[in-house]
Amino acid sequence: MISVAIDGPAGAGKSTLSRRAAKALGFIYVDTGALYRTVGLKFVRCGVDTELNCDIEAILSDTQVDIRFVDGEQRVFLDGEDVSDKIRTPQISMMASAVSAKPAVRKFLLEMQRKLARENNVLMDGRDIGTVVLPDATVKIFLTASAEARARRRYKELVEKGEKVTFQEVYDDMVQRDYNDSHRSAAPLKQADDAVLADTTDCDLEQSLELILKIVKEGIN
Ligand code: C5P
Repeated sequence: MISVAIDGPAGAGKSTLSRRAAKALGFIYVDTGALYRTVGLKFVRCGVDTELNCDIEAILSDTQVDIRFVDGEQRVFLDGEDVSDKIRTPQISMMASAVSAKPAVRKFLLEMQRKLARENNVLMDGRDIGTVVLPDATVKIFLTASAEARARRRYKELVEKGEKVTFQEVYDDMVQRDYNDSHRSAAPLKQADDAVLADTTDCDLEQSLELILKIVKEGIN
């Protein structure tokens, strides 16, 4: 099986680019951020905030997260309910970042991710795919862009979805999440030694896609 690991900070365009690159390659696209978001939603539903003053293990033992592919598109299920359209809010972003710092949560989701890569040609994106989840991935890419460029893209996306946010809020959230993700002790966001760096600050979507496909094709051959 071939596996492509794409890691990088929030808003680097990972999901849009990964989805399109996976399609072009004929691989399944696994968005691992959605798994952390799903766990985050569970904690919100349990009435927990980002301080996570709760029995994490007890909540996890009563949580079922599933991933299914419908017409090639990933859907995530929480306790049997399709929550794919409920996990893309700023509140769930912060909650995903909080729960993902907990080793118990990372362990809870690890085997599911590895199994997908054992059974399929995958393009998997996240924060620790090349470093922890798939250390032997065929190709590893670290996708990034300046915080300003990433916040601009994410702001546009949220406004188009009708979310009421200001650019400053999106930017501040982004910087906070980058900090959380790269300073936690459990699987921090960092470039794997053998990952290729792709900086898309000055690239539009098509240029970024071309860059990724080029790196993947060179890595596979
Ligand atoms: O990629 P996305 O923004 O959907 O991820 C939500 C959060 O989940 C991230 O801020 C990060 O804290 C966490 N995450 C992670 N490891 C991954 C994917 C996401 O810790 N592999």
